[in-house]
Amino acid sequence: MFFHEFEAIADEYPDLRRVVEQLDDRLSGICSPAPLRIGDLSCVHDADVNQVASVFDLLEQQGVVYAQSMVECERCQTLMPADDFLEAVEDEDAFECSGCDRVYSPSTTPMHVYRLTPHALERTIANTKQRAVEVDSPSCDEPLNERSQEVLQAMLELGAVDSDQRKPTEAIAIKAIGQCADANSLKVVMSELNTRRLIKSKKGRGGGCWLTPNGRQRAEKLRSGNRNSATV
Ligand SMILES: [Zn+2]
Repeated sequence: MFFHEFEAIADEYPDLRRVVEQLDDRLSGICSPAPLRIGDLSCVHDADVNQVASVFDLLEQQGVVYAQSMVECERCQTLMPADDFLEAVEDEDAFECSGCDRVYSPSTTPMHVYRLTPHALERTIANTKQRAVEVDSPSCDEPLNERSQEVLQAMLELGAVDSDQRKPTEAIAIKAIGQCADANSLKVVMSELNTRRLIKSKKGRGGGCWLTPNGRQRAEKLRSGNRNSATV
C-alpha cells in the first residue's frame, strides 16, 4: 500500500483490509485538499459505510486526514462550516449558501467531511509527479472503474454528446444505476470523469453533463467491448 499508515491499520484490523486497500488506492491519487465524504466513498467502492467511517477515524488519529464539521447545500452541494451555520440558527438569522444563495433549512444536519492533511498531501503529490514521469501516455488511457464505465455508457445512450444535449445528473444516475439511484452518489465519479476530461458539466438551473469527444470515444469503445463479450 502507498500509505504505511493504511498498512498498519490493515494489520491491526484484518476485517478492514479490503476497504483499507481500496481507500489507499484512491487517496494516494488525490493531490488536493478536496472534501472526502464517507457516504460517497462507500458507494463508489461498494463498501460498508461503518467500515469506511472506522477507517477514517483511525486515519485521523494517524494524522493522514482531518475532519471538519460542515453543512451541505441541498441544491449545489457547496459545503459551509457547521459552526457558522449553528451560530446563525441560534441567532435566528438566515444562513445562505455561498454557491447558490439558497437559504439553508434550520433543520439541516451537520456532517463530517475529511481532507488530507498537508503532510499527507506532500506525499501524494510527490508520488503523482513520480508516476507521471514513469508513465508516458496521459491518464486518459488509464482503466476506469465499473461505475465510471456505466456512467459513460449511460450518457452515450442518453445522447448526451455535446453541450446542447446535456443531461441532468439525476437522469444519468437512473440510466446508469437504476430507478432507485441517488444522483449524489455519483458526485465522486462525475468529478473524476471531469478531471480526466471525459465529461464536461454546466452548473445551475438547466445545467447538466455531456461527453467530451474523448469521453464519447471511450464510451463507444466500452459499448462495443460489451457487445462482443455478450455474443461470445
Ligand atoms: Zn447552494
